[in-house]
Amino acid sequence: MSPENENTPAAPSDFIRDIVAKHVAEKKYPRIHTRFPPEPNGYLHIGHAKSICLNFGIAREFGGICNLRMDDTNPTKEDVEYVDSITEDVNWLISGWANDRLGLKPKGKTPDAVTSNGKPDYYMPIAVDNAVTEPFYASDYFDQIYEYALVLIKKGMAYVCDLTPDETDEYRRHAKASPYRERSIEENLNLFTRMKAGEFPDGKCSLRAKIDVASPNIWMRDPLLYRIRHEDHHHTGGKWCIYPMYDFAHCLSDYIEGITHSICTLEFEVHRPLYDWILESIGLPRPLPHQYEFARLSLGYTIMSKRKLMQLVNEKLVSGWDDPRMPTISGIRRRGVMPEALRAFAYNIGITKYNGITDVAVLEHAIREDLNKRALRRLAVLRPIKVVLTNYPEGKTEELEAVNNPEDENAGKRKVPFGRELFIEQDDFMEVAAPKFFRLKPGGEVRLKYAYIIKCDEVVKDAAGKITELRCTADLDSKSGGATANRKVKGTIHWVSAAHAIDVECRLYDRLFTEAEPEKDGRDFKSVLNPHSLEVVTAKCEPSLKDAKPEQRYQFERLAYFALDKDSSLTPNTPRLILNRTITLKDTWAKEARK
Ligand code: ATP
Ligand code: MG
Repeated sequence: MSPENENTPAAPSDFIRDIVAKHVAEKKYPRIHTRFPPEPNGYLHIGHAKSICLNFGIAREFGGICNLRMDDTNPTKEDVEYVDSITEDVNWLISGWANDRLGLKPKGKTPDAVTSNGKPDYYMPIAVDNAVTEPFYASDYFDQIYEYALVLIKKGMAYVCDLTPDETDEYRRHAKASPYRERSIEENLNLFTRMKAGEFPDGKCSLRAKIDVASPNIWMRDPLLYRIRHEDHHHTGGKWCIYPMYDFAHCLSDYIEGITHSICTLEFEVHRPLYDWILESIGLPRPLPHQYEFARLSLGYTIMSKRKLMQLVNEKLVSGWDDPRMPTISGIRRRGVMPEALRAFAYNIGITKYNGITDVAVLEHAIREDLNKRALRRLAVLRPIKVVLTNYPEGKTEELEAVNNPEDENAGKRKVPFGRELFIEQDDFMEVAAPKFFRLKPGGEVRLKYAYIIKCDEVVKDAAGKITELRCTADLDSKSGGATANRKVKGTIHWVSAAHAIDVECRLYDRLFTEAEPEKDGRDFKSVLNPHSLEVVTAKCEPSLKDAKPEQRYQFERLAYFALDKDSSLTPNTPRLILNRTITLKDTWAKEARK
């Protein structure tokens, strides 16, 4: 078993894990084997993260293996760019947690085919010599899947049908038998071989299972097994011009890899009879894999379909698949979220059979909990206003001690420079203060964190009436250890020394949509894009942030959590720091909602 990670909550229990536990107790299989089977036609999103955590989580908890498999049967929409991003995202999410459970592919070898009897090279060892962390591909099984199709034809359980795709749909809807249904086995073998040889154009004919045209389950009404697509495939190149349909390839890929529990989302429940029919009709030796379904993740303020996410990318409504506002794993990662937080979220929401919308606050809570433990505290001002301490000596600098992380003693302390001129947050000053405003106001006092109590004596404005400077006096005995250090003032605010501040580009990200259900009542999700989902400011930051590291997380005190963006340049001569706001400290949306 993998070592327990302190940030990973205890393994949950749910109806799928109960089934697996029962099978383990019964010793039904030599080893539990799951898989995560994305189609490489887009980037993975947080819904996929739920599935990854479930499949790898089960492998981890029950001493099994989970394969990452590209479900790549449709050459028109798939691309290696997606294969690469998927592989990277899965590895990032399971690294240090379940990567020792990743099914490994022996180099240059795919699991062996079985067409008549004997078992496939099924239970692959975890550590195979020369194994690489490379995904499995359904397209690596095209030869075997083709052989299986021949088996069905020879058994009189599949036929070549010349109806057009539209006619086929129409016939199936009306439970009508194809006129080609009773072709002889010889004719079917001949036609299918010629389909493979490329003799027919796209759509001229297809291979269909011969099941039951009048079945109450439309998926059983002689479904398509193979179609013609004269198109190169990202993994098999120009080798094939016929491609198996998802339903045909999926169960067989599961079988070939020795999958025991094939876990998918609820919409596949109606496909399960077909899944079983194919495996049983071919007459494969047991044990056969079995399919289980759970409710997919739908998240508030989020759209999840890859097709729609692609629309955001293609129409340049976001900067790319990994835009930090995207619900993609790569976007979430770039925003600064740690894999531990995503895994905690996936565990917290649980696995059920009921579709519903998960409150985005659940995700945000998991992110805050994780960052609170790991983030280094820093002083930074996002929207500065200048403060001059008129009674503080010009040219004097003090080094004040500040705690790096109150949640982690080992994070230690640091020195923060303090001087006569400071920046504070515009929000922390109100010229005409509201009744419960306990921050700085004319004539009022506030504590500067780690430093002195100050009092605002004068508000300086420019000709246009805009505040340019606050002139204040400091109680010079009120610093920690001083005579008036314990004097009570209601508010504490953060600050940065003007002389020492460094400028940092901060990208302030917020929710991408203004509505919890962007597509409610058929509305176009693009009509509810949040116009304030990205604001860029130049923040004044304490100088220690010049050493910001990509793997480190930061909390700007009283504001938010930040992480270094990949657009930053860390070269010593021309450093350019860009920090992404991962999430604010408090849920500002909940406050809005209450108003
Ligand atoms: P989308 O509908 O977002 O385009 P998809 O279902 O077409 O996604 P696949 O690549 O086929 O994406 O999905 C791979 C696996 O992830 C499947 O087993 C699928 O059931 C699961 N999955 C996809 N979306 C979700 C989700 N929102 N919640 C949980 N699991 C999901
Ligand atoms: Mg799909």
